[in-house]
Amino acid sequence: MNWAPLFRWYEREQRDLPWRRTRDPYRILVSEIMLQQTQVSRVLEFYRRWLKRFPTWRALARASNTDVIHAWAGLGYNRRALVLRDIAKRITELRTKNLEPRTSREWIKLKGIGPYTANALACFAFREHTIPIDTNIRRVLGRSLLGKTFPTLADDARIERAALKTWPTDDRACDLPQALFDLAVAVCTKSPACAACPMKSQCKAAPKFLGGRVRIPKRSIKKSNETKHRNKPFPDRIYRGRILAELRKQNGILIAKIGSCIDPAYDSKRDADWMRAMIERMSKDGLARISGRYVRLPR
Ligand code: SF4
Repeated sequence: MNWAPLFRWYEREQRDLPWRRTRDPYRILVSEIMLQQTQVSRVLEFYRRWLKRFPTWRALARASNTDVIHAWAGLGYNRRALVLRDIAKRITELRTKNLEPRTSREWIKLKGIGPYTANALACFAFREHTIPIDTNIRRVLGRSLLGKTFPTLADDARIERAALKTWPTDDRACDLPQALFDLAVAVCTKSPACAACPMKSQCKAAPKFLGGRVRIPKRSIKKSNETKHRNKPFPDRIYRGRILAELRKQNGILIAKIGSCIDPAYDSKRDADWMRAMIERMSKDGLARISGRYVRLPR
């Protein structure tokens, strides 16, 4: 693959994002964790506010569960806030021994850091030539290098092997993932605009898309780890988010009352076990605390 056309496109079209202007691993990790389930446009404001409140590993490491849950309000998937704080604690300990991680192999040893994030941190903060493969990069590389129209996680090893054959060996190696992100978001979307793509003459999937031979799936596949009550319209995470929003307003709510606070269709006979199970799960995840008949924010 000749990446030059993509780099030329990226020079013109790249997004100016605050986490691309830093090599601070803390700031990069904050952005990566916020971006895991949230769109860039929403993350921008939360990112700025978070860094004002917790500007360093040390400041975040000192924060309580309640502090981080309050600061994360509005972003959703609140467990991420606790994961981030726990990583900050670990990094602060490692720094006192001069063992702060730098390479992908070192980052991945930390609880809460997966292969993509480890590669992204090593690449964007320490310029290691890794290939961070997330959904966006998988889509572009799976299509262009393998010719798969909708590549999946199972294709990652093949994608990596194919990418390594032509991945830059100079400093552009760490700009390439950013260029691929932007192409994935602007051009190589679910229904790609191949005619406008700088990779179209080399991409193995372009003839299929341009020839109109690809059926674009209407809906994305349901997230496999998402739970949902059969009588409720939304997945449980939406109701857990509502419970946390209530707890942020009034810390300490009767468990027997919280269902009707967060769900207008709540039926105390039919839904009580479901609600109790959700609260117990939140307590296990460190997002809530059960004390007697009450549920509260964790300490
Ligand atoms: S040519 Fe089409 S499928 Fe290939 S990378 Fe570009 S937008 Fe994606």
